[in-house]
Amino acid sequence: MHLLQVVSALVAPPLCAACGRGCRAGAVLCTRCSRRLATATPVLTAGPQGIDRAWSSAPHDDVARALVGALKFRHLLPVAELMADRIEWLAPGHLLGGAAVPVPAAPGRLRRRGFDPAGELASALAAKLGTEVSACLVRRGPGHQRGRGRAERIRHPPRIESVAPAPRSVLLIDDVLTTGATLTACASALRPAGAKRIVALTFTRRL
Ligand SMILES: [Zn+2]
Repeated sequence: MHLLQVVSALVAPPLCAACGRGCRAGAVLCTRCSRRLATATPVLTAGPQGIDRAWSSAPHDDVARALVGALKFRHLLPVAELMADRIEWLAPGHLLGGAAVPVPAAPGRLRRRGFDPAGELASALAAKLGTEVSACLVRRGPGHQRGRGRAERIRHPPRIESVAPAPRSVLLIDDVLTTGATLTACASALRPAGAKRIVALTFTRRL
């Protein structure tokens, strides 16, 4: 355990990132939430368009969903670690080759928050897999997808461009897979930049 965690555990008891109840020092989740997360079934599919395989560690529900919120809105970095652990443990090994490319955040959103969930997850996962992070994509213009309906997300995908050569084999990383429109926009930018194989890995998937 880090010294900082010891000190903060003395000041305030650690709280479960999902349910907010007290939990063991150094733990992200309480025992109950940890058990519930362990029962979530990963989802593996072909596509969306442009993506060879898409794998998510859990449906966007219950404890997994609460963790996405904790990373996005409360910036709890240990949550990114826990998400990366779960992806590394559960994803089939043949999917895990390549460099990690985070799905880029909308520029205004990143400026306001100063925090990028997909980027944090990509860094944590790349460190575990011993691979590199290639931040070769940027998102232009307005158009974050959150708060938009499903049909609108598909009709108006975000504008995504490559700003550097893409790795040949890409692990495209995001916290949540919703319609797949964002992943498809990323693939359209990655292929001309040199990507031959694109596997999308997300923590949750809205079904
Ligand atoms: Zn809990």
